Amino acid sequence: MARPVIGIIGGGPAGLFCAATIRSKESRLILFEKKREAGRKLLITGSGRCNLTHGGEIREFEPHYGENGAFLKPALRGFTNRDLIAFFEERGCPVYADENEKIFPVSEKADDILSVLMTACRENGVVIRQNNPVRAVERSGDGFLIRTDEQDVLVDHLVIATGGASYPSTGSTGDGYRFAESLGHRIIEIGPALTPVHPEQYPFPDLAGISFDDITVSILREGKIVRRVTGDLLFTHNGFSGPVILHASRFIRDGDSLSIAFLPEQEREVIQSHITLGSATAGKRLVKTILSELPLPARFIQRLTEEAGLSPDSTVAHLTKEKRKELLRLLTGWIFQIKRVGGFDAAMATRGGIALEEINNKTMESRLLPNLYCIGEVLDIDGDTGGYNLQAAFSTAYTAAESISLKNR
Ligand SMILES: Cc1cc2nc3c(=O)[nH]c(=O)nc-3n(C[C@H](O)[C@H](O)[C@H](O)COP(=O)(O)OP(=O)(O)OC[C@H]3O[C@@H](n4cnc5c(N)ncnc54)[C@H](O)[C@@H]3O)c2cc1C
Repeated sequence: MARPVIGIIGGGPAGLFCAATIRSKESRLILFEKKREAGRKLLITGSGRCNLTHGGEIREFEPHYGENGAFLKPALRGFTNRDLIAFFEERGCPVYADENEKIFPVSEKADDILSVLMTACRENGVVIRQNNPVRAVERSGDGFLIRTDEQDVLVDHLVIATGGASYPSTGSTGDGYRFAESLGHRIIEIGPALTPVHPEQYPFPDLAGISFDDITVSILREGKIVRRVTGDLLFTHNGFSGPVILHASRFIRDGDSLSIAFLPEQEREVIQSHITLGSATAGKRLVKTILSELPLPARFIQRLTEEAGLSPDSTVAHLTKEKRKELLRLLTGWIFQIKRVGGFDAAMATRGGIALEEINNKTMESRLLPNLYCIGEVLDIDGDTGGYNLQAAFSTAYTAAESISLKNR
């Protein structure tokens, strides 16, 4: 009997890890990678340091994938963050957790993570065909035909691991959506996620680099709050970034606004008392001096008072009721109309993808076509920053590898 052939499209973390962990001595494993070298996106993760996964208990991971976290439950429990760490440590790549429980290789080199994956593939007998983009896939009997420029290859099992559509220069250009769609799968509309946000008339271009810890950002749609997110915010030269914005970007749609609370709403009364005539001497004090007692950067306070229409020598006595209200509003809910969110060239992830209800979450096998598997970011999965996206890629890859191994024992 001919040896079963398993074809994997995509040499990112999901494809490489799946190929490395399929246990089937009898099978031929062929991985097709579009770029000259596999793992281009992996190399830029965590700014080249690779935030591999997150610490803590695996059950705490699910909420970090939004509404689709439940789909990942079996995969995450079947191959946890601890399993992932053990995989790399056993292969000579120790890791550490930073103060936010993000896990990195001790060497802080994504290169080392990629090396382990490439070695594991080699040891598992995987043939890696780099610089070999797959152009199309077709159903052929119980298997599939993979079409490349060099040749057409018949496989018994097909794994789509082509990633999302962000940072297209790394090779992730969304081909997998097309392949899955051509095989009958539904694609949930894709969009950039984990990306900066650019407001109309951005008032802080010269304050780039200033950051705020643990503040709350609300997404407003038709005047109503549709999502509230808390975390650290960063001013860039043309918009907002930092974990809270990257996270919020997944939920932003055309026409939305952001309301940013630079100070928590609970402190509203404290702030109010700062800028009212609480004592006989308060009226003579400069507003900017009083605001400087708040835990806010000095340059931001200057911009805030300008925005509220106050001159540098305005005292508390000068503050009309309206001006006071305006200052409070800017501090606890400054509203910014969103011009656009960063595009796929700036997004760390892609929202949308292969519809999850058509994939068996215990095996990652298609519910429509037996022997077709979809793993990693090509699925309608995107997680928060912090190592959640790579963990999802590895866990879904392992789940598919287990299922394929069982079928080919
Ligand atoms: C700047 C940046 C930083 C990030 N940092 C982190 C981080 O620190 N931690 C974290 O958890 N996540 C991070 N992410 C997200 C993470 O990189 C992805 O979620 C992850 O790489 C997805 O893995 P994947 O294998 O599914 O897809 P990808 O890594 O996108 O790999 C897909 C592969 O398929 C190949 N391919 C595509 N089409 C074809 C085709 N037609 N034929 C053959 N091959 C094809 C591509 O060339 C690519 O190599 C970051 C992303 C970016 C952009």
